[in-house]
Amino acid sequence: MYNGILTKNQFINEKVLSYEQGSKERAELEIELAKIKNSFADIPIIIGGKEIRTGNKGKCILPHNKNKIIGEYHKAGKKEIIMAVEACLKAKEKWISMLWKSRAAIYLRAAELAAGPWRAKLNASTMLTQSKTYKQAEIDSACELIDFFRSNVECLKDIYMEQPMSSEGIWNRTEYRPLEGFIFAVSPFNFTSIAANLPSAPAIAGNTVVWKPASNTVYSSYVVYQLLKEAGLPDGVINFIPGNADEISNLILSRAELSGIHFTGSTKVFQDMWKTVGNNINSYKTFPRLVGETGGKNYIIVHESANLNSAVRGLIEGAFEYQGQKCSAASRAYIAKSVWQEVKELLLEKAARIKVGDIEEADTFMGAVIDQKSYNSIKEYIDYIKNSEDAKIIFGGYCDDGTGDFVEPTIAVTTNPKFKTMEEEIFGPVLTVYIYEDENFMQMLSLINDTSVYGLTGSIFAKDRYIIEQAERILVNTAGNFYINDRPTGAVVGQQPFGGGRLSGTNDKAGSKLNLLRWVSPRVTKENLKN
Ligand code: NAD
Repeated sequence: MYNGILTKNQFINEKVLSYEQGSKERAELEIELAKIKNSFADIPIIIGGKEIRTGNKGKCILPHNKNKIIGEYHKAGKKEIIMAVEACLKAKEKWISMLWKSRAAIYLRAAELAAGPWRAKLNASTMLTQSKTYKQAEIDSACELIDFFRSNVECLKDIYMEQPMSSEGIWNRTEYRPLEGFIFAVSPFNFTSIAANLPSAPAIAGNTVVWKPASNTVYSSYVVYQLLKEAGLPDGVINFIPGNADEISNLILSRAELSGIHFTGSTKVFQDMWKTVGNNINSYKTFPRLVGETGGKNYIIVHESANLNSAVRGLIEGAFEYQGQKCSAASRAYIAKSVWQEVKELLLEKAARIKVGDIEEADTFMGAVIDQKSYNSIKEYIDYIKNSEDAKIIFGGYCDDGTGDFVEPTIAVTTNPKFKTMEEEIFGPVLTVYIYEDENFMQMLSLINDTSVYGLTGSIFAKDRYIIEQAERILVNTAGNFYINDRPTGAVVGQQPFGGGRLSGTNDKAGSKLNLLRWVSPRVTKENLKN
C-alpha cells in the first residue's frame, strides 16, 4: 500500500508554441490536418468503455467549408442514456477506492501526452471542428487543456491537505469524499479545453460522469475522450454520449442519483436545467450541486487618460479573436468623446487589416462562425443595427454563408447606451460603441452597472489611478474577471481563475480550488484518544 504524503509542487503554465513557417510544431500540425481531412471518422458513443453505434447519426462539418464532412457521430437514445448512468454507478466503487496518487497520475500523464505526441491532433481537430486559427487552437486545445489537467491535480492536493485543528486528546480529520451518485457534464462548442475540463474536474475528485458534448464539436471532444483513455482513465469513469440535448437532459435530470451538473453554455439552457432540477427536487437522493458558467455582455471602457494604442489593440483582439465567440469577448465599448476621433481612426485602420477566411492560412485572423443557426442570429443583429435610427455601422456588416458561415468584423456606434446590441449577448464579431461626454464618466459607470443582466468580464483602459479606483468600486458586480489596461479575454489557468456572477453563472472559477470544492463532500471524523 502506498503511504507517502505528496507534497506541493506548483504547476507552470504550458508554453504557447509559435507555429512559425518551418517549425517542427507547424510541420506536425499540417500532417495532422491533412490526415483528418483525408479520412472519415465514425464516432461511437462510449459507455463503460464500450463503443456503441446506434446508426442514428449526426455530421461533423467544417464551419469554414460546409461541404467538407470529416465524420459522423452516433447519437445516444433512451436506452444508451440509461446505460450511461448505470455505467457511472458501476464504475464508481472502483474509482473511489483507487489511490489518489493514481488518479493524479492519469491526469498528469494526459497533460504530458497533450503537450507532446497528442498536441497536433488536439489542435488540428479543434481548428477544423471549431474553425480556429493556429494561434487560437494552440491557446485552447493545447495550453489551456494541459493547464486544466495539471492545475486540477495541484488544487485537489491543496484541498486534501486542508485539515482541521485538533485539541488535547482529540484527533480531528477530514476526508474529502466524492459526491454520492453521478455527475452530468454538458459542454459548449467554443473551447476544447472547457469541454475537457467539464467532465474531468469532477472525475479527478473521484466522481463518475455522463458527458454530453456539444453537437457541433463532437469530433474534437472525442479526441479528448481518446486522450484520457490513452492516459489510463478506467472504463466507465467518463461516459461519452453525444445526442439530442433535450432528450438526454430530461432523462438524466430525472434520475434520483444525480449529484451534480457541470455546465458551460448559454444562460437560458442553464436556467432551464435549474428549473427542471427544482421541479424534480423531491425525487433526488441528495441536493445536486449546480455549477454553470454561462453568457456574457463584456465591456471595454476607454477613458480620456488611456494609452490609445493599447486600448485599440484591446478592442480589436477582445472583440474579434475567434470571431467574437469567446464567452469573454468584448461586445460593448464606452469611449470618451475627447479621444473618440483618434480611437476611431486607429480602430478602422486595424479592422481593415483583419483577414477573414480559411483558418489554415497563416495570416487569417478570423474563421467562420460555428454554424448556420449562429450565423443567422448574428446577421439578424447586424440587420437590426442597419435598420435602426439609434445606431450606425462604421465598419463591416457584411455576411457570407456560401462556402462557410463568415461574418466580417463589425463595428457600430450608437447614441443610445441601452441599445439592443449594448445589452444582449450576440456571440459573434459585433462590437457596439457608445461615446460618452468626458465629464459624465461617473454616470457612465452607473450606466454600465445597470445595462446588462450579465457579469462575466470587463476592462478599463486609463492611466488616471483615481479613475481606475472609481471604476473598480462601482463596477464591482459587473464582472467576475476585471481587467485594467488589458483586453477582457484570454484568462490563463492558475493566473486569472475564470467565471462570472449575475446571469453569467455560479462563478465557481474553472481550474481553481473553488471549482473542485464543488465536487467533494467532506466527512469530518473526531476521535477521542483518551476514551
Ligand atoms: P448552448 O447553451 O447552446 O449549448 C451548450 C451545451 O448545452 C451544448 O452541449 C448543448 O447541446 C447543450 N444543451 C442545449 N439544450 C440543452 C438542454 N435543454 N438541456 C441540456 N443541455 C442542453 O451554448 P453554446 O452555443 O454551445 O455556447 C455558447 C454559450 O456558452 C454562450 O452563451 C457563451 O457565453 C457561453 N460560454 C460561457 C463560458 C463561461 O465560462 N462563462 C464559456 C464558454 C461559453
